[in-house]
Amino acid sequence: MMEHPENSEEYKGLTVNAGIEQPSTVNPYLKLRKKPRRREFTVDEFVDGIVKGNVTVLSQAVTMVESLKPEHQAIAQEVIEKCLPYSGNSVRIGISGVPGAGKSTSIDVFGLHVLEKGGKLAVLAIDPSSERTKGSILGDKTRMEKLSVHPKAFIRPSPSAGSLGGVARKTRETIILCEAAGFDKIFVETVGVGQSETAVHSMVDFFLLIQLAGTGDELQGIKRGIMEMADGIVINKADGNNIEKANLAASHFRNALHLFPTPDSGWTPKVLTYSGFYGLGIKEIWDMIDEYFVFVKKNGYFDYRRNEQAKYWMYETINEHLRDSFYNNPTIETMLQAKEQAVLNGTQTSFVAAKHLLDTYYQLLK
Ligand code: GDP
Repeated sequence: MMEHPENSEEYKGLTVNAGIEQPSTVNPYLKLRKKPRRREFTVDEFVDGIVKGNVTVLSQAVTMVESLKPEHQAIAQEVIEKCLPYSGNSVRIGISGVPGAGKSTSIDVFGLHVLEKGGKLAVLAIDPSSERTKGSILGDKTRMEKLSVHPKAFIRPSPSAGSLGGVARKTRETIILCEAAGFDKIFVETVGVGQSETAVHSMVDFFLLIQLAGTGDELQGIKRGIMEMADGIVINKADGNNIEKANLAASHFRNALHLFPTPDSGWTPKVLTYSGFYGLGIKEIWDMIDEYFVFVKKNGYFDYRRNEQAKYWMYETINEHLRDSFYNNPTIETMLQAKEQAVLNGTQTSFVAAKHLLDTYYQLLK
């Protein structure tokens, strides 16, 4: 046994001992416990995982699509291009309605209904409010309780960064990845506020508009443009003592639709009532959508619409790049403020100011 230091002759009761060595305030194991950074996949690994239906890889690829970092964008674009041959084999359905119309309740039951028939469903969203409020109204997994835990469903909230056009483009690219991963039903959800419908319409085969009875919207408030886009209008909450009102609203919508010219598809939009909450009338909605697909695949409109959309997105992408390149140019940025002031002061007309800015920009490109 070791001799205790107190027994040593040198030991004097009144001397100050060195004391106990304090442990480091920094956890020495921290380094070891630090989560190793996940190695980023290569383009081929992404494509391979996606095509095999690996949802983890798919999610990460979507994150790349949504990322603003140029290096991520470069990878994303390559992955999308390589996934393109595996995509296209799905039905894409846009679902729109004002907040409270019952989109999430309905998508939950619609989704389960279609999944019963087999296949896989991806629910994506375009939410123009998410940029402003930094919180997405749509696509929140918890809003669709049953679907969010379904093994054949993939739910992704709206991309939040950038302009509506940018957000919409990312959703369109995500559709391609989802299809390559074997998702044969794609829902794209959006809030019924106007512009975002146009964006959704430009990427889906069928546009479903969810309406409520008795909101006074039936004839006056309804934005004409949105109704014209609809391939089907469904009136939700047709349950309890709301059934009669829902039926009345349905006939109002039917009458209003008569006033519009027949759409290019040749398909006359249908109006149905249902209850998402009680699961009533869901089958009828899907039967209508099925009927539409048989109709437009036969008359060629299905392919025509997809081709038109592909063209639209090419031009949209060009427009977006040109705009970004112009407005993000440092010289132009500085000049813009001065020109704006000149126009406001009346010292220069809008047209001259614009021309001057554009000429400067073209000079800079040389
Ligand atoms: P969203 O904002 O369009 O996604 O709407 P939600 O799905 O969150 O629904 C808004 C509210 O309406 C919720 O309180 C739902 O419970 C209710 N709701 C949705 N569908 C129905 C329905 O078919 N009948 C009734 N009575 N209420 C419903």
